[in-house]
Amino acid sequence: MGDASSAEKLKAVYRLLLECYGPQRWWPAETPFEVMTGAVLTQSSAWVNVEKAIGNLKAAGKLSAAALRDMPAADLAALIYPSGYYNAKARKLKAMVEWLGTYGDDLSRLDRRDFEDLREELLGVHGIGPETADSILLYALGRPIFVIDAYTRRLYPRLGIKPDRDTYDAWQRLFMANLPREAATFNEYHALIVRHGKESCRKKPRCRGCCLSGACPAFSP
Ligand code: SF4
Repeated sequence: MGDASSAEKLKAVYRLLLECYGPQRWWPAETPFEVMTGAVLTQSSAWVNVEKAIGNLKAAGKLSAAALRDMPAADLAALIYPSGYYNAKARKLKAMVEWLGTYGDDLSRLDRRDFEDLREELLGVHGIGPETADSILLYALGRPIFVIDAYTRRLYPRLGIKPDRDTYDAWQRLFMANLPREAATFNEYHALIVRHGKESCRKKPRCRGCCLSGACPAFSP
């Protein structure tokens, strides 16, 4: 999958996005545990609603693994109501903190785990799929893995860049085989893709003024 053409294109898009928006300095959270919580809450939800749910947890003094574990699921669901799918997400957060409890809620113990084993373990936790697992690995734990999301899968085909198959793993391999394996780059690049997907390359793209227009076969004035 690693080839000079894909590598050049992916790096060129990164440079253009960085020039356009500047560093995004993700993830917007105060602690790694807040990142983990946000990664679950953002599933099928706009970030503005996740912020409200996180704000409720903070205001109630419940934004910790122990607090989430100890509170009734119904109370947790009520606090995270703004994020949508609140009953399902309460169950997912409960599963995540139960799992974290097996490490004594100590994220530094996760840091010491073998990367592949840790990812497999995360994927075995109820409610944690590849995008959520990789968001946690990259943004909470600083591991070098590229996060694939709907913004990525919408933008790159428009730019004429896509993997052989439209699967999460194939998309991830495309980026990881063609970029330096650095957490800082993966962190910034994914954040820039999200920013661009929200501002310009929306479902109905706003091509006029788009900073990628010169490199985009799908440009439509
Ligand atoms: S030119 Fe249009 S389609 Fe291409 S990246 Fe920009 S917004 Fe998306």
